[in-house]
Order: sequence, then structure tokens, then C-alpha cells
Amino acid sequence: MKQSQLFTKTRREAPKDEVSKNAQLLIRAGYIHKEMAGVYDFLPLGLRVLNKIVGIIREEMNAIGGQEVHMTALQDKGKWEATDRWSDKVNDIWFKTKLKNDTELGLGFTHEEPLTSIMKDHIRSYKDLPKAVYQFQTKFRNEARAKSGILRGREFLMKDLYSFSIDEKSHNIYYAKAKDAYMKIFNRLGIGDQTFVTFATGGSFSKYSHEFQTLCEAGEDLIYIDEKKKMAVNKEVLNDEVLNDLGLSRAELVEKKAIEVGNIFSLGTKFSGALGLNYRDESGKDIAVNMGCYGIGPSRVMGTIAEVWSDDKGLVWPESVAPFKVHLVAIFGKDTASGGAGKVRQAADELYASLTAKGVEVLYDDRDCSAGEKFGDSDLIGIPWRYVISEKTLATDSIEVKDRKTGTVEMKKLK
Ligand code: ATP
Ligand code: MG
Repeated sequence: MKQSQLFTKTRREAPKDEVSKNAQLLIRAGYIHKEMAGVYDFLPLGLRVLNKIVGIIREEMNAIGGQEVHMTALQDKGKWEATDRWSDKVNDIWFKTKLKNDTELGLGFTHEEPLTSIMKDHIRSYKDLPKAVYQFQTKFRNEARAKSGILRGREFLMKDLYSFSIDEKSHNIYYAKAKDAYMKIFNRLGIGDQTFVTFATGGSFSKYSHEFQTLCEAGEDLIYIDEKKKMAVNKEVLNDEVLNDLGLSRAELVEKKAIEVGNIFSLGTKFSGALGLNYRDESGKDIAVNMGCYGIGPSRVMGTIAEVWSDDKGLVWPESVAPFKVHLVAIFGKDTASGGAGKVRQAADELYASLTAKGVEVLYDDRDCSAGEKFGDSDLIGIPWRYVISEKTLATDSIEVKDRKTGTVEMKKLK
């Protein structure tokens, strides 16, 4: 893509009402636009990053047998009354709306109820299980505080997978697979080293649930980590009994701020029981399906990467999620300052064409502006590899290659 064609512009100053680093950087670099607190638009660069994150998650969900669907945001009150989750007293994060005839509807904040209902049409016998179904979908949550940029949206993207098994034993096998898949995802997203599997309360159907917590000063959660064992517990379960159970010792644990990037949970028969999702076993008996749910917020993950991988100059995207792999920055000499077809422009155009033809994703800064402005923008946008082409580099038939992460500079021959 040619930068002269990109409609977004960078800006020097962050918006005054934005306190979080992720949103400040992402807005300044033109990745996102703020509609209001907790509500953000994804612009071309931002959407490219979000889609890369989604792509990685999708591959790993497919690898554990997930089947992708896309469910509705509008929610039928009856299903949520059946599980006692409709009332604002039980759940105060609902956004609700009404039809013209006054029928109440909700905007989904999660999707256990509607998916359990869908599965009732399709699961009949033990032969139909296990199954796993997932989606990437916009969730709505009336969050009390929304000061963390895209880490905490009131409207945000979630990947939610739900598993359906014959019993707890079979569920536990799938749950372990999903847990592994989650760590694979965070490794591929470039935040594996900072991300801890964190034991949290399990609800009524299992001893623990697991959160995936990425160490970060911007995090809203406090976790207690054992660095050597790469394990952590959250505040709710920090007690002698749990530590004993997990073989952890309080003296070894360090308190850290962290961002919950993912959460997996055993649901047992809570939803299948309430909504009547049963299967028929070999003896002809109807039994409630055993369920699990597995969430990741791709938009929160994007904000987390922006927090973890940035410096005083701007964003530093890991290659796996960067909007482009190469930022080709052409420094036009005097002969091309007027936009004419000078030597540098010609060489840069050719390099852009040949890289693109090879399938390399390139953002080509072909704008007529100063070198200083181009380098500043390039640091801010944070593409992993910067290729500089100028009269000076062409004198040796070379380009300058700079690694955004390490700052290492190398000259490479053009041919
Ligand atoms: P939190 O405790 O941070 O409010 P949660 O426990 O309510 O999150 P879950 O219901 O487990 O979140 O949602 C699954 C995943 O969706 C989370 O792990 C997180 O990655 C993402 N997520 C949850 N709430 C938000 C939000 N408001 N904005 C962006 N992502 C979110
Ligand atoms: Mg959670």
C-alpha cells in the first residue's frame, strides 16, 4: 500500500481525554478512532492488526476442532430468564433495547444462552459429541470504568468458543487441549513470555478456572506469580489451601499487575440443564451436555501488545501481527522533490513492485515530505522492518535496513 493513498494521518499529540498508553499511541499513529469512552473504530492499519490477531486465533481454534459460526448481537430475553441472567440485579453490564411493540431485547455480552439453544436443534445422541463451536463477534458490556483504551471496551471484539461433551472426563480432555492452544496463541502473538496461566475461581463445576494474564503496568488485575514455575494465582484464590493444592509457596510469589487476555471456564451442566440441552446415551437415557467456555478479546490483545511492545517513539509490532512487514521509506532527493520521476522514486517504485510481487506486505512511504517527518511517522507506526532508499543509499546501489525492535541498521545491496 502506498502511504500517499492511506486516508489516515498521524498526529503529534495524543487526544487530551485519553489516559491509556495503548489508545494514545494507536490514535496518534492512525490505527483507531475514539467515538467515546470505551468505544473505538478500527481504521485501515488497526483493522489489519486486528485481522492478523483474529487469523492466528482462528487457526488455533480450527486446530482443536472448533467450528466457526457468527451469532447475533440482539438477544431474546426468554433464554436469559431461563438461566436467571436477564435481570439487571444479577447482571449490571447489560445494554438493553426494545422493539417498537415494547418487547425487550438485550445486546449480547456473552453467548452461552443462544448457542446452547442452537445446539438443542442439532445434538441428539452421544454419537453427536464432543463438539466445539466458536465465533468472533462484537460484545456489548456497560462497563463501569472505561479508561484503559481498547483494553476495556463497552463494545469490543471477542472470540468465544464453547465445548460440548458427554461428561466431565471428556470435558477435561478438551479443556486441557484448549489451554494448550491458548498458550500457543499468545506465543504466536508475541506476548507468550509475559503471559501466565493464572488459577482463578472455578464456580460450582470445577475447582479452578484459568485466566491468561499478561504482565503489564497498565493491567487492572493483580496476580501472584511464581516466575520459575511459570504459574500464577489471582487475588480471589490467594489462600493457604489453594497454594498448598498447587504446590506454590507464598514466599516465592511476587505481586504483579496484569491484563487478562483470555479466560477458560468449565460450565458443567449449568446452561444445558437450564435450557434443556440433552443427549441420549447408549442405554436411551437423556443426559445434560457438559459444557465449557473459552474467551479471548482480540481487541484487548491488540491493546496489550501495544502496551507491552512500544517505546518512547511509538509502537513496535511483533512480525506476526504487524499491519505490514516492511515500511519502505523513500527519501526523495532534490531531483524528485517536486514529485517528478527522479532516480530515487524510480528505484523505490521498482523495489515496492518487486517486494509486493513476492507477497511481502509493504507500506511504501511515497509522500513528498521531509525525511524527519517520514522517520518520525515510521517509528510511531512501528512496522518491524524499515527499508530506507535515498540518493545516498543508491550511491552504493543499496538500501538501509533497520530493525524497529533492536534498532540495528544494516546496508543491503539492491541486486
Ligand atoms: P474482566 O475481568 O477484565 O472484566 P471478564 O472476566 O469479564 O473480563 P470474560 O467474560 O472472561 O471477561 O471475557 C473473555 C475475554 O474477553 C477476556 O479474557 C478478555 O480478553 C475479553 N474482554 C472481556 N471484557 C472486555 C472488555 N470490556 N473489552 C475488551 N475485551 C474484553
Ligand atoms: Mg474473566
